[in-house]
Amino acid sequence: MSDELKNILSSFLFNVNLDNSEYYAFKKELEICYKKISKILNFNKVKIQLQLKYDCYQSNKNLKEFILFDDNINSNNVYEYSNKFSNYANVKILYYSKKQFNQEQINDLRKISDFFFKLFSNYVIDDVINYATLTDFMVDAPNLAGLYQYGGILKTKNELQNYTVIYLNLKDFKFINKLVGSESVNDVVKKYVDSVKNVLENSELIGRLGGDNFVIYARKENITNILDYLKEIKIETFEKTIPIKCRAGIYEVGEKDTVNEAFECASIALAEAKKIKKTDFLFFDEEMQNRLMLAKEICFTFMDDLKNEKFDVFYQPKVNVLNNIMCGTEALVRWTNQTISPGIFVPILENENLIEELDLYVLEHICKDILEFINNGLEPVKISTNISKNNLKDPNLAKKIITIINKYNIDPSYLDIEITETASAENFEDLVRFISEIKKYGLTVSIDDFGIGTSSLNLLKCLDVDTIKIDKSFIDNFENPREKIIIKNIVNMINELDIGIIAEGVEIVEQVDFLKEIGCNYVQGYLFDKPLKKEDYYERLKVKKYEKVPVK
Ligand code: C2E
Ligand code: CA
Ligand code: CA
Repeated sequence: MSDELKNILSSFLFNVNLDNSEYYAFKKELEICYKKISKILNFNKVKIQLQLKYDCYQSNKNLKEFILFDDNINSNNVYEYSNKFSNYANVKILYYSKKQFNQEQINDLRKISDFFFKLFSNYVIDDVINYATLTDFMVDAPNLAGLYQYGGILKTKNELQNYTVIYLNLKDFKFINKLVGSESVNDVVKKYVDSVKNVLENSELIGRLGGDNFVIYARKENITNILDYLKEIKIETFEKTIPIKCRAGIYEVGEKDTVNEAFECASIALAEAKKIKKTDFLFFDEEMQNRLMLAKEICFTFMDDLKNEKFDVFYQPKVNVLNNIMCGTEALVRWTNQTISPGIFVPILENENLIEELDLYVLEHICKDILEFINNGLEPVKISTNISKNNLKDPNLAKKIITIINKYNIDPSYLDIEITETASAENFEDLVRFISEIKKYGLTVSIDDFGIGTSSLNLLKCLDVDTIKIDKSFIDNFENPREKIIIKNIVNMINELDIGIIAEGVEIVEQVDFLKEIGCNYVQGYLFDKPLKKEDYYERLKVKKYEKVPVK
Protein backbone atom coordinates (compact mmCIF):
# COMPACT_ATOMS: atom_id res chain seq x y z
CA MET A 1 0.00 0.00 0.00
CA SER A 2 1.36 3.40 -0.91
CA ASP A 3 2.44 5.80 1.79
CA GLU A 4 -0.18 8.20 0.58
CA LEU A 5 -2.96 5.70 1.28
CA LYS A 6 -1.46 4.79 4.65
CA ASN A 7 -1.44 8.48 5.56
CA ILE A 8 -5.11 8.85 4.64
CA LEU A 9 -6.01 5.89 6.85
CA SER A 10 -3.96 7.07 9.81
CA SER A 11 -5.40 10.57 9.55
CA PHE A 12 -8.83 8.92 9.65
CA LEU A 13 -7.86 7.16 12.88
CA PHE A 14 -6.54 10.40 14.23
CA ASN A 15 -9.78 12.26 13.46
CA VAL A 16 -12.16 9.67 14.82
CA ASN A 17 -12.15 8.92 18.46
CA LEU A 18 -13.66 5.48 18.09
CA ASP A 19 -14.38 4.88 21.71
CA ASN A 20 -17.00 7.52 22.06
CA SER A 21 -17.78 8.82 18.62
CA GLU A 22 -21.38 8.71 17.57
CA TYR A 23 -22.00 6.62 14.54
CA TYR A 24 -22.93 9.57 12.39
CA ALA A 25 -19.60 11.25 13.23
CA PHE A 26 -17.87 8.02 12.30
CA LYS A 27 -19.82 7.88 9.07
CA LYS A 28 -18.99 11.49 8.19
CA GLU A 29 -15.25 10.85 8.62
CA LEU A 30 -15.63 7.66 6.62
CA GLU A 31 -17.14 9.61 3.77
CA ILE A 32 -14.31 12.14 3.81
CA CYS A 33 -11.76 9.37 3.94
CA TYR A 34 -13.27 7.45 1.00
CA LYS A 35 -13.41 10.62 -1.06
CA LYS A 36 -9.68 11.04 -0.53
CA ILE A 37 -8.98 7.41 -1.38
CA SER A 38 -11.12 7.57 -4.50
CA LYS A 39 -8.81 10.24 -5.87
CA ILE A 40 -6.01 7.68 -5.79
CA LEU A 41 -7.88 4.50 -6.69
CA ASN A 42 -10.57 6.00 -8.89
CA PHE A 43 -13.84 4.57 -7.76
CA ASN A 44 -17.04 6.60 -8.06
CA LYS A 45 -19.21 5.14 -5.39
CA VAL A 46 -18.97 3.16 -2.12
CA LYS A 47 -21.88 1.25 -0.71
CA ILE A 48 -21.92 -0.57 2.62
CA GLN A 49 -24.45 -3.29 3.31
CA LEU A 50 -25.04 -4.59 6.77
CA GLN A 51 -27.00 -7.80 6.81
CA LEU A 52 -28.44 -9.12 10.07
CA LYS A 53 -29.27 -12.79 9.92
CA TYR A 54 -32.52 -12.63 11.91
CA ASP A 55 -35.68 -11.26 10.52
CA CYS A 56 -38.36 -11.46 13.13
CA TYR A 57 -39.79 -8.13 12.07
CA GLN A 58 -40.84 -9.67 8.77
CA SER A 59 -39.53 -6.74 6.84
CA ASN A 60 -36.26 -5.92 5.20
CA LYS A 61 -35.19 -3.99 8.23
CA ASN A 62 -32.42 -6.45 8.78
CA LEU A 63 -30.67 -5.19 5.68
CA LYS A 64 -29.12 -1.82 6.24
CA GLU A 65 -27.54 -0.04 3.38
CA PHE A 66 -25.43 3.09 3.38
CA ILE A 67 -24.14 4.88 0.33
CA LEU A 68 -21.05 6.52 1.67
CA PHE A 69 -19.97 8.30 -1.37
CA ASP A 70 -21.42 8.62 -4.85
CA ASP A 71 -20.41 11.05 -7.55
CA ASN A 72 -23.23 9.92 -9.85
CA ILE A 73 -21.04 8.58 -12.61
CA ASN A 74 -22.18 5.34 -14.21
CA SER A 75 -19.81 2.64 -13.07
CA ASN A 76 -19.56 -0.73 -14.80
CA ASN A 77 -17.24 -2.50 -12.41
CA VAL A 78 -18.17 -3.54 -8.91
CA TYR A 79 -15.63 -4.79 -6.38
CA GLU A 80 -17.13 -6.48 -3.41
CA TYR A 81 -15.47 -7.29 -0.06
CA SER A 82 -17.36 -8.96 2.70
CA ASN A 83 -16.79 -9.91 6.25
CA LYS A 84 -18.75 -12.10 8.63
CA PHE A 85 -19.24 -10.96 12.21
CA SER A 86 -20.00 -13.98 14.37
CA ASN A 87 -23.11 -15.81 13.23
CA TYR A 88 -25.31 -12.79 13.37
CA ALA A 89 -24.16 -10.36 10.77
CA ASN A 90 -22.40 -9.86 7.45
CA VAL A 91 -20.93 -6.62 6.26
CA LYS A 92 -20.23 -5.96 2.60
CA ILE A 93 -18.35 -3.02 1.12
CA LEU A 94 -18.94 -2.44 -2.58
CA TYR A 95 -16.76 -0.19 -4.71
CA TYR A 96 -18.09 1.00 -8.07
CA SER A 97 -15.64 2.06 -10.70
CA LYS A 98 -15.72 3.10 -14.37
CA LYS A 99 -12.55 1.24 -15.23
CA GLN A 100 -11.15 -2.09 -14.19
CA PHE A 101 -8.66 -2.23 -11.33
CA ASN A 102 -5.29 -3.92 -11.64
CA GLN A 103 -4.10 -6.53 -9.15
CA GLU A 104 -2.24 -4.03 -7.01
CA GLN A 105 -5.27 -1.78 -6.75
CA ILE A 106 -7.44 -4.77 -5.87
CA ASN A 107 -5.01 -5.68 -3.09
CA ASP A 108 -5.12 -2.13 -1.82
CA LEU A 109 -8.91 -2.16 -1.77
CA ARG A 110 -8.88 -5.41 0.21
CA LYS A 111 -6.48 -3.96 2.78
CA ILE A 112 -8.49 -0.75 3.07
CA SER A 113 -11.70 -2.78 3.45
CA ASP A 114 -10.14 -4.99 6.13
CA PHE A 115 -9.02 -1.90 7.95
CA PHE A 116 -12.59 -0.61 8.00
CA PHE A 117 -14.12 -3.99 8.80
CA LYS A 118 -12.16 -4.03 12.05
CA LEU A 119 -13.43 -0.60 12.93
CA PHE A 120 -16.87 -1.47 11.75
CA SER A 121 -17.11 -4.46 14.03
CA ASN A 122 -17.68 -2.08 16.94
CA TYR A 123 -20.71 -0.71 15.27
CA VAL A 124 -21.94 -4.13 14.17
CA ILE A 125 -21.56 -5.62 17.62
CA ASP A 126 -23.57 -2.72 18.99
CA ASP A 127 -26.26 -3.36 16.47
CA VAL A 128 -26.28 -7.11 17.11
CA ILE A 129 -26.48 -6.57 20.85
CA ASN A 130 -29.24 -4.08 20.34
CA TYR A 131 -31.02 -6.60 18.15
CA ALA A 132 -30.50 -9.38 20.67
CA THR A 133 -32.01 -7.32 23.46
CA LEU A 134 -35.10 -6.82 21.35
CA THR A 135 -35.54 -10.41 20.25
CA ASP A 136 -36.81 -13.62 21.75
CA PHE A 137 -34.47 -16.02 19.95
CA MET A 138 -36.38 -19.10 20.97
CA VAL A 139 -39.31 -18.16 18.80
CA ASP A 140 -37.47 -15.69 16.59
CA ALA A 141 -39.86 -12.89 17.37
CA PRO A 142 -39.57 -9.59 19.22
CA ASN A 143 -39.62 -9.70 22.99
CA LEU A 144 -41.32 -7.09 25.17
CA ALA A 145 -38.63 -4.51 24.45
CA GLY A 146 -38.83 -5.27 20.72
CA LEU A 147 -42.60 -4.93 20.78
CA TYR A 148 -42.34 -1.59 22.56
CA GLN A 149 -39.75 -0.40 20.09
CA TYR A 150 -41.87 -1.39 17.12
CA GLY A 151 -44.91 0.32 18.67
CA GLY A 152 -42.75 3.39 19.21
CA ILE A 153 -41.79 3.42 15.55
CA LEU A 154 -45.45 3.14 14.53
CA LYS A 155 -46.31 5.94 16.94
CA THR A 156 -43.65 8.28 15.53
CA LYS A 157 -44.89 7.59 12.04
CA ASN A 158 -48.39 8.43 13.27
CA GLU A 159 -49.55 4.94 12.33
CA LEU A 160 -50.17 3.33 15.69
CA GLN A 161 -53.84 4.36 15.59
CA ASN A 162 -54.33 2.14 12.54
CA TYR A 163 -53.59 -0.89 14.68
CA THR A 164 -55.28 -3.11 17.20
CA VAL A 165 -53.22 -4.55 20.01
CA ILE A 166 -54.05 -8.17 20.79
CA TYR A 167 -52.74 -9.41 24.12
CA LEU A 168 -53.05 -13.17 24.13
CA ASN A 169 -52.45 -16.10 26.38
CA LEU A 170 -52.47 -19.72 25.27
CA LYS A 171 -55.14 -21.89 26.81
CA ASP A 172 -54.17 -25.06 28.67
CA PHE A 173 -50.48 -24.35 28.26
CA LYS A 174 -49.61 -26.42 31.33
CA PHE A 175 -51.46 -29.33 29.82
CA ILE A 176 -49.68 -28.92 26.46
CA ASN A 177 -46.40 -28.79 28.36
CA LYS A 178 -47.22 -32.09 30.03
CA LEU A 179 -48.45 -33.63 26.81
CA VAL A 180 -45.37 -32.96 24.70
CA GLY A 181 -42.74 -32.64 27.43
CA SER A 182 -40.86 -29.53 28.43
CA GLU A 183 -38.22 -29.96 25.72
CA SER A 184 -40.59 -30.11 22.76
CA VAL A 185 -42.86 -27.43 24.11
CA ASN A 186 -40.48 -24.73 22.87
CA ASP A 187 -40.79 -26.20 19.45
CA VAL A 188 -44.58 -26.10 19.68
CA VAL A 189 -44.50 -22.45 20.75
CA LYS A 190 -42.15 -21.59 17.88
CA LYS A 191 -44.46 -23.30 15.41
CA TYR A 192 -47.39 -21.44 16.89
CA VAL A 193 -45.63 -18.11 16.36
CA ASP A 194 -44.62 -19.10 12.82
CA SER A 195 -48.17 -20.05 12.07
CA VAL A 196 -49.45 -16.67 13.27
CA LYS A 197 -46.73 -14.90 11.25
CA ASN A 198 -48.17 -16.53 8.16
CA VAL A 199 -51.47 -14.72 8.47
CA LEU A 200 -49.92 -11.38 9.34
CA GLU A 201 -49.12 -8.73 6.80
CA ASN A 202 -45.67 -7.20 6.58
CA SER A 203 -46.42 -4.27 8.83
CA GLU A 204 -48.13 -6.48 11.41
CA LEU A 205 -46.13 -8.15 14.11
CA ILE A 206 -46.31 -10.87 16.74
CA GLY A 207 -43.97 -10.80 19.72
CA ARG A 208 -43.60 -12.84 22.86
CA LEU A 209 -43.77 -11.39 26.34
CA GLY A 210 -42.50 -14.60 27.88
CA GLY A 211 -44.00 -18.03 28.59
CA ASP A 212 -47.29 -18.38 26.77
CA ASN A 213 -48.08 -14.68 26.54
CA PHE A 214 -47.95 -12.84 23.23
CA VAL A 215 -48.82 -9.51 21.71
CA ILE A 216 -49.87 -8.89 18.15
CA TYR A 217 -49.99 -5.56 16.33
CA ALA A 218 -52.78 -6.18 13.84
CA ARG A 219 -54.07 -3.64 11.37
CA LYS A 220 -57.64 -2.65 12.26
CA GLU A 221 -59.05 -3.85 8.94
CA ASN A 222 -57.60 -7.34 9.49
CA ILE A 223 -58.72 -7.93 13.05
CA THR A 224 -61.69 -10.17 12.22
CA ASN A 225 -59.58 -12.47 10.07
CA ILE A 226 -56.81 -12.66 12.61
CA LEU A 227 -59.13 -13.40 15.53
CA ASP A 228 -60.83 -16.01 13.46
CA TYR A 229 -57.47 -17.62 12.78
CA LEU A 230 -56.49 -17.48 16.44
CA LYS A 231 -59.60 -19.40 17.54
CA GLU A 232 -57.71 -22.60 17.04
CA ILE A 233 -54.32 -23.26 15.48
CA LYS A 234 -53.35 -26.84 14.82
CA ILE A 235 -49.68 -27.52 15.47
CA GLU A 236 -48.16 -30.67 14.05
CA THR A 237 -45.56 -32.32 16.19
CA PHE A 238 -43.62 -35.48 15.57
CA GLU A 239 -46.27 -37.63 17.23
CA LYS A 240 -49.51 -35.73 17.26
CA THR A 241 -51.51 -32.73 16.18
CA ILE A 242 -52.15 -30.26 18.96
CA PRO A 243 -55.02 -27.81 18.62
CA ILE A 244 -54.06 -24.61 20.44
CA LYS A 245 -56.64 -22.09 21.56
CA CYS A 246 -56.04 -18.80 23.25
CA ARG A 247 -57.68 -16.08 25.27
CA ALA A 248 -57.18 -12.53 24.14
CA GLY A 249 -57.75 -8.99 25.25
CA ILE A 250 -58.14 -6.66 22.32
CA TYR A 251 -57.62 -2.93 22.19
CA GLU A 252 -58.26 -0.68 19.21
CA VAL A 253 -55.61 1.98 19.56
CA GLY A 254 -56.88 5.56 19.67
CA GLU A 255 -55.16 8.58 18.18
CA LYS A 256 -53.82 9.84 21.49
CA ASP A 257 -52.79 6.51 23.00
CA THR A 258 -49.20 5.68 23.77
CA VAL A 259 -47.81 2.19 23.26
CA ASN A 260 -47.87 1.70 27.00
CA GLU A 261 -51.54 2.65 27.29
CA ALA A 262 -52.45 0.39 24.38
CA PHE A 263 -50.68 -2.55 26.05
CA GLU A 264 -52.27 -1.84 29.40
CA CYS A 265 -55.80 -1.64 27.98
CA ALA A 266 -55.34 -4.87 26.02
CA SER A 267 -54.00 -6.61 29.12
CA ILE A 268 -56.94 -5.36 31.21
CA ALA A 269 -59.27 -6.86 28.61
CA LEU A 270 -57.34 -10.14 28.75
CA ALA A 271 -57.63 -10.25 32.54
CA GLU A 272 -61.41 -9.81 32.14
CA ALA A 273 -61.55 -12.48 29.43
CA LYS A 274 -59.84 -14.89 31.81
CA LYS A 275 -62.56 -14.27 34.39
CA ILE A 276 -65.44 -14.77 31.99
CA LYS A 277 -65.47 -18.44 31.17
CA LYS A 278 -67.78 -18.12 28.18
CA THR A 279 -65.75 -15.71 26.04
CA ASP A 280 -62.19 -16.15 24.89
CA PHE A 281 -61.86 -12.83 23.07
CA LEU A 282 -62.78 -9.61 24.76
CA PHE A 283 -62.54 -6.06 23.44
CA PHE A 284 -61.52 -3.43 25.96
CA ASP A 285 -64.18 -0.96 27.12
CA GLU A 286 -64.32 2.01 29.52
CA GLU A 287 -66.29 0.00 32.09
CA MET A 288 -63.30 -2.30 32.50
CA GLN A 289 -61.06 0.68 33.06
CA ASN A 290 -63.35 2.09 35.75
CA ARG A 291 -63.62 -1.26 37.48
CA LEU A 292 -59.86 -1.58 37.46
CA MET A 293 -59.36 1.91 38.91
CA LEU A 294 -61.85 1.12 41.65
CA ALA A 295 -60.18 -2.20 42.39
CA LYS A 296 -56.77 -0.52 42.62
CA GLU A 297 -58.14 2.16 44.92
CA ILE A 298 -59.79 -0.42 47.15
CA CYS A 299 -56.70 -2.59 47.46
CA PHE A 300 -54.59 0.47 48.12
CA THR A 301 -56.60 1.57 51.17
CA PHE A 302 -57.80 -1.83 52.36
CA MET A 303 -54.83 -3.10 54.40
CA ASP A 304 -54.31 0.24 56.15
CA ASP A 305 -57.97 0.57 56.97
CA LEU A 306 -58.13 -2.98 58.26
CA LYS A 307 -55.14 -2.38 60.53
CA ASN A 308 -56.79 0.78 61.82
CA GLU A 309 -60.06 -1.08 62.42
CA LYS A 310 -61.94 1.00 59.90
CA PHE A 311 -64.40 -1.83 59.31
CA ASP A 312 -67.53 -2.29 61.41
CA VAL A 313 -69.58 -5.38 61.93
CA PHE A 314 -73.35 -4.97 61.62
CA TYR A 315 -75.87 -7.58 62.71
CA GLN A 316 -79.07 -8.54 60.93
CA PRO A 317 -81.45 -10.68 63.00
CA LYS A 318 -82.96 -13.93 61.76
CA VAL A 319 -86.49 -14.48 63.01
CA ASN A 320 -88.69 -17.48 63.74
CA VAL A 321 -91.99 -16.34 62.22
CA LEU A 322 -94.05 -18.81 64.26
CA ASN A 323 -93.43 -16.74 67.39
CA ASN A 324 -91.66 -13.65 65.98
CA ILE A 325 -88.63 -14.21 68.17
CA MET A 326 -85.09 -13.57 67.02
CA CYS A 327 -83.37 -16.94 66.62
CA GLY A 328 -80.05 -15.97 65.10
CA THR A 329 -78.24 -13.20 63.35
CA GLU A 330 -75.98 -12.62 60.38
CA ALA A 331 -72.85 -10.52 60.70
CA LEU A 332 -72.36 -8.17 57.74
CA VAL A 333 -69.31 -6.04 57.33
CA ARG A 334 -69.37 -2.29 56.64
CA TRP A 335 -66.45 -0.10 55.59
CA THR A 336 -66.50 2.80 58.08
CA ASN A 337 -66.68 6.25 56.46
CA GLN A 338 -66.95 4.73 52.98
CA THR A 339 -70.11 4.66 50.92
CA ILE A 340 -69.02 1.56 49.03
CA SER A 341 -71.07 -1.53 49.94
CA PRO A 342 -69.76 -5.05 50.58
CA GLY A 343 -71.60 -6.22 47.46
CA ILE A 344 -68.98 -4.19 45.54
CA PHE A 345 -65.80 -4.48 47.58
CA VAL A 346 -66.08 -8.11 48.67
CA PRO A 347 -65.78 -9.51 45.10
CA ILE A 348 -62.81 -7.17 44.49
CA LEU A 349 -61.04 -8.33 47.64
CA GLU A 350 -61.80 -11.90 46.56
CA ASN A 351 -60.09 -11.28 43.25
CA GLU A 352 -57.06 -9.78 44.94
CA ASN A 353 -56.83 -12.61 47.46
CA LEU A 354 -57.35 -10.23 50.36
CA ILE A 355 -60.72 -11.51 51.53
CA GLU A 356 -59.40 -13.96 54.11
CA GLU A 357 -57.94 -11.08 56.13
CA LEU A 358 -61.34 -9.42 56.19
CA ASP A 359 -63.32 -12.57 57.03
CA LEU A 360 -61.06 -13.41 59.96
CA TYR A 361 -61.20 -9.79 61.13
CA VAL A 362 -65.03 -9.96 61.11
CA LEU A 363 -64.93 -13.28 62.99
CA GLU A 364 -62.63 -11.82 65.63
CA HIS A 365 -64.98 -8.87 66.10
CA ILE A 366 -67.97 -11.18 66.40
CA CYS A 367 -66.14 -13.17 69.11
CA LYS A 368 -65.29 -9.99 71.03
CA ASP A 369 -68.91 -8.84 70.78
CA ILE A 370 -70.33 -12.19 71.94
CA LEU A 371 -68.01 -12.09 74.93
CA GLU A 372 -69.15 -8.56 75.71
CA PHE A 373 -72.84 -9.52 75.42
CA ILE A 374 -72.33 -12.46 77.78
CA ASN A 375 -70.36 -10.34 80.23
CA ASN A 376 -73.25 -7.88 80.24
CA GLY A 377 -75.65 -10.62 81.18
CA LEU A 378 -77.31 -10.97 77.79
CA GLU A 379 -78.12 -14.33 76.22
CA PRO A 380 -76.52 -14.23 72.74
CA VAL A 381 -78.04 -15.95 69.72
CA LYS A 382 -76.10 -17.87 67.11
CA ILE A 383 -74.20 -15.54 64.81
CA SER A 384 -73.54 -16.45 61.19
CA THR A 385 -70.47 -15.09 59.51
CA ASN A 386 -69.79 -15.04 55.79
CA ILE A 387 -66.72 -16.91 54.68
CA SER A 388 -65.76 -16.29 51.10
CA LYS A 389 -65.49 -19.30 48.83
CA ASN A 390 -62.04 -18.07 47.83
CA ASN A 391 -60.79 -18.85 51.32
CA LEU A 392 -61.47 -22.54 50.85
CA LYS A 393 -58.15 -22.84 49.03
CA ASP A 394 -56.45 -22.30 52.39
CA PRO A 395 -56.08 -25.77 53.98
CA ASN A 396 -55.63 -24.15 57.39
CA LEU A 397 -58.80 -22.08 57.26
CA ALA A 398 -60.79 -24.20 59.74
CA LYS A 399 -57.85 -24.19 62.16
CA LYS A 400 -57.49 -20.42 61.88
CA ILE A 401 -61.20 -20.02 62.63
CA ILE A 402 -61.16 -22.23 65.73
CA THR A 403 -57.97 -20.56 66.98
CA ILE A 404 -59.75 -17.20 66.99
CA ILE A 405 -62.83 -18.65 68.70
CA ASN A 406 -60.68 -20.33 71.36
CA LYS A 407 -58.75 -17.12 71.94
CA TYR A 408 -61.97 -15.55 73.24
CA ASN A 409 -63.09 -18.72 74.94
CA ILE A 410 -66.41 -18.70 73.08
CA ASP A 411 -68.59 -21.80 72.76
CA PRO A 412 -68.24 -22.66 69.00
CA SER A 413 -71.93 -23.54 68.85
CA TYR A 414 -72.62 -19.79 69.02
CA LEU A 415 -71.18 -19.57 65.53
CA ASP A 416 -72.38 -20.53 62.10
CA ILE A 417 -70.47 -20.26 58.83
CA GLU A 418 -72.26 -19.09 55.69
CA ILE A 419 -70.74 -20.16 52.39
CA THR A 420 -72.32 -19.38 49.07
CA GLU A 421 -73.67 -22.18 46.97
CA THR A 422 -71.42 -21.20 44.07
CA ALA A 423 -68.44 -22.35 46.16
CA SER A 424 -69.37 -25.93 45.40
CA ALA A 425 -69.11 -25.44 41.64
CA GLU A 426 -65.56 -24.17 41.88
CA ASN A 427 -63.91 -26.34 44.48
CA PHE A 428 -66.16 -29.07 45.65
CA GLU A 429 -63.46 -31.14 47.34
CA ASP A 430 -62.15 -28.20 49.34
CA LEU A 431 -65.71 -27.38 50.38
CA VAL A 432 -66.41 -30.93 51.59
CA ARG A 433 -63.15 -30.99 53.57
CA PHE A 434 -63.78 -27.59 55.12
CA ILE A 435 -67.35 -28.41 56.14
CA SER A 436 -66.34 -31.64 57.82
CA GLU A 437 -63.47 -29.96 59.70
CA ILE A 438 -65.47 -26.99 60.86
CA LYS A 439 -68.34 -29.20 62.04
CA LYS A 440 -65.90 -31.31 64.04
CA TYR A 441 -64.96 -28.14 65.89
CA GLY A 442 -68.63 -27.68 66.83
CA LEU A 443 -69.70 -24.90 64.46
CA THR A 444 -72.68 -25.17 62.12
CA VAL A 445 -72.69 -24.49 58.39
CA SER A 446 -75.23 -22.73 56.18
CA ILE A 447 -75.38 -22.63 52.42
CA ASP A 448 -76.01 -19.06 51.27
CA ASP A 449 -77.79 -17.89 48.10
CA PHE A 450 -79.21 -21.35 47.54
CA GLY A 451 -80.91 -22.05 44.22
CA ILE A 452 -79.06 -19.70 41.89
CA GLY A 453 -76.03 -21.91 41.29
CA THR A 454 -75.85 -24.78 38.90
CA SER A 455 -75.35 -27.58 41.38
CA SER A 456 -78.01 -27.03 44.02
CA LEU A 457 -79.34 -30.55 43.96
CA ASN A 458 -75.95 -32.18 43.91
CA LEU A 459 -75.08 -30.08 46.91
CA LEU A 460 -78.10 -31.29 48.87
CA LYS A 461 -77.17 -34.85 48.01
CA CYS A 462 -73.54 -34.67 49.03
CA LEU A 463 -73.00 -32.04 51.69
CA ASP A 464 -73.61 -32.36 55.38
CA VAL A 465 -74.88 -28.83 56.08
CA ASP A 466 -77.16 -27.55 58.84
CA THR A 467 -79.12 -24.82 57.09
CA ILE A 468 -80.05 -23.77 53.59
CA LYS A 469 -80.63 -20.08 52.90
CA ILE A 470 -82.95 -19.65 49.95
CA ASP A 471 -81.71 -16.86 47.74
CA LYS A 472 -83.46 -13.51 47.85
CA SER A 473 -84.34 -13.65 44.15
CA PHE A 474 -86.86 -16.45 44.80
CA ILE A 475 -88.44 -14.49 47.63
CA ASP A 476 -88.63 -11.34 45.44
CA ASN A 477 -90.60 -13.25 42.82
CA PHE A 478 -92.78 -15.26 45.17
CA GLU A 479 -95.95 -14.16 43.35
CA ASN A 480 -94.85 -15.62 40.06
CA PRO A 481 -96.72 -18.95 39.73
CA ARG A 482 -93.72 -20.87 38.41
CA GLU A 483 -91.40 -19.54 41.11
CA LYS A 484 -94.08 -20.37 43.69
CA ILE A 485 -93.98 -24.01 42.62
CA ILE A 486 -90.20 -24.04 42.68
CA ILE A 487 -89.85 -22.51 46.16
CA LYS A 488 -92.56 -24.72 47.52
CA ASN A 489 -90.81 -27.84 46.31
CA ILE A 490 -87.38 -26.68 47.40
CA VAL A 491 -88.73 -26.06 50.89
CA ASN A 492 -90.48 -29.43 50.89
CA MET A 493 -87.38 -31.27 49.84
CA ILE A 494 -85.17 -29.55 52.39
CA ASN A 495 -87.69 -30.19 55.15
CA GLU A 496 -87.87 -33.85 54.22
CA LEU A 497 -84.09 -34.05 54.28
CA ASP A 498 -84.30 -32.65 57.79
CA ILE A 499 -82.07 -29.70 56.98
CA GLY A 500 -82.79 -26.26 58.46
CA ILE A 501 -84.22 -23.65 56.11
CA ILE A 502 -84.35 -19.89 56.09
CA ALA A 503 -85.47 -17.30 53.54
CA GLU A 504 -83.42 -14.13 53.05
CA GLY A 505 -84.51 -10.73 51.83
CA VAL A 506 -88.00 -10.80 53.28
CA GLU A 507 -89.50 -7.32 52.98
CA ILE A 508 -93.26 -7.67 53.14
CA VAL A 509 -95.82 -9.51 55.27
CA GLU A 510 -97.22 -11.35 52.25
CA GLN A 511 -93.87 -13.05 51.80
CA VAL A 512 -93.91 -14.20 55.42
CA ASP A 513 -97.44 -15.53 55.01
CA PHE A 514 -96.51 -17.45 51.91
CA LEU A 515 -93.34 -18.85 53.47
CA LYS A 516 -95.19 -19.98 56.58
CA GLU A 517 -97.80 -21.65 54.40
CA ILE A 518 -95.19 -23.75 52.60
CA GLY A 519 -93.28 -24.66 55.77
CA CYS A 520 -90.40 -22.18 55.83
CA ASN A 521 -90.57 -20.69 59.30
CA TYR A 522 -87.31 -18.78 59.52
CA VAL A 523 -86.68 -15.53 57.73
CA GLN A 524 -84.25 -12.65 57.57
CA GLY A 525 -85.00 -9.32 55.97
CA TYR A 526 -85.82 -5.64 56.15
CA LEU A 527 -89.37 -6.46 57.29
CA PHE A 528 -87.94 -7.26 60.72
CA ASP A 529 -84.64 -5.44 60.77
CA LYS A 530 -82.02 -4.00 58.50
CA PRO A 531 -78.43 -4.86 59.44
CA LEU A 532 -78.01 -3.07 62.79
CA LYS A 533 -75.10 -1.22 64.35
CA LYS A 534 -73.70 -3.06 67.35
CA GLU A 535 -75.37 -0.64 69.80
CA ASP A 536 -78.80 -1.09 68.19
CA TYR A 537 -78.31 -4.82 67.98
CA TYR A 538 -77.46 -4.81 71.68
CA GLU A 539 -80.88 -3.32 72.38
CA ARG A 540 -82.48 -5.95 70.14
CA LEU A 541 -80.77 -8.71 72.09
CA LYS A 542 -82.41 -7.44 75.24
CA VAL A 543 -85.88 -7.79 73.68
CA LYS A 544 -85.80 -10.61 71.18
CA LYS A 545 -89.50 -10.61 70.41
CA TYR A 546 -90.92 -8.50 67.57
CA GLU A 547 -94.23 -7.05 68.70
CA LYS A 548 -95.18 -4.75 65.83
CA VAL A 549 -94.96 -7.13 62.88
CA PRO A 550 -98.49 -7.79 61.63
CA VAL A 551 -99.46 -11.43 61.78
CA LYS A 552 -102.22 -12.97 59.65
P1 C2E B 1 -75.29 -12.01 51.58
O1 C2E B 1 -74.42 -12.86 52.41
O2 C2E B 1 -76.28 -12.69 50.71
O3 C2E B 1 -75.99 -11.01 52.56
C1 C2E B 1 -77.31 -10.59 52.45
C2 C2E B 1 -77.36 -9.23 51.85
O4 C2E B 1 -78.72 -8.88 51.65
C3 C2E B 1 -76.81 -8.16 52.78
O5 C2E B 1 -76.25 -7.13 51.96
C4 C2E B 1 -78.05 -7.65 53.47
O6 C2E B 1 -77.91 -6.34 53.97
C5 C2E B 1 -79.04 -7.70 52.34
N1 C2E B 1 -80.42 -7.82 52.81
C6 C2E B 1 -80.86 -8.46 53.89
N2 C2E B 1 -82.21 -8.37 53.97
C7 C2E B 1 -82.60 -7.67 52.90
C8 C2E B 1 -83.89 -7.25 52.41
O7 C2E B 1 -84.92 -7.49 52.98
N3 C2E B 1 -83.90 -6.55 51.24
C9 C2E B 1 -82.77 -6.25 50.58
N4 C2E B 1 -82.88 -5.56 49.46
N5 C2E B 1 -81.54 -6.64 50.99
C10 C2E B 1 -81.48 -7.33 52.16
P2 C2E B 1 -74.88 -6.52 52.28
O8 C2E B 1 -74.68 -6.36 53.73
O9 C2E B 1 -74.73 -5.33 51.40
O10 C2E B 1 -73.90 -7.64 51.80
C11 C2E B 1 -73.79 -8.01 50.47
C12 C2E B 1 -72.96 -9.23 50.31
O11 C2E B 1 -71.61 -8.96 50.68
C13 C2E B 1 -73.36 -10.37 51.19
O12 C2E B 1 -74.43 -11.05 50.64
C14 C2E B 1 -72.11 -11.18 51.27
O13 C2E B 1 -72.00 -12.00 50.16
C15 C2E B 1 -71.05 -10.12 51.23
N6 C2E B 1 -70.57 -9.88 52.59
C16 C2E B 1 -71.02 -9.04 53.54
N7 C2E B 1 -70.24 -9.12 54.63
C17 C2E B 1 -69.27 -10.04 54.37
C18 C2E B 1 -68.15 -10.57 55.09
O14 C2E B 1 -67.87 -10.23 56.25
N8 C2E B 1 -67.39 -11.50 54.45
C19 C2E B 1 -67.66 -11.92 53.19
N9 C2E B 1 -66.88 -12.84 52.64
N10 C2E B 1 -68.68 -11.45 52.50
C20 C2E B 1 -69.48 -10.52 53.08
CA1 CA C 1 -74.70 -14.38 53.84
CA1 CA D 1 -77.41 -14.43 50.64
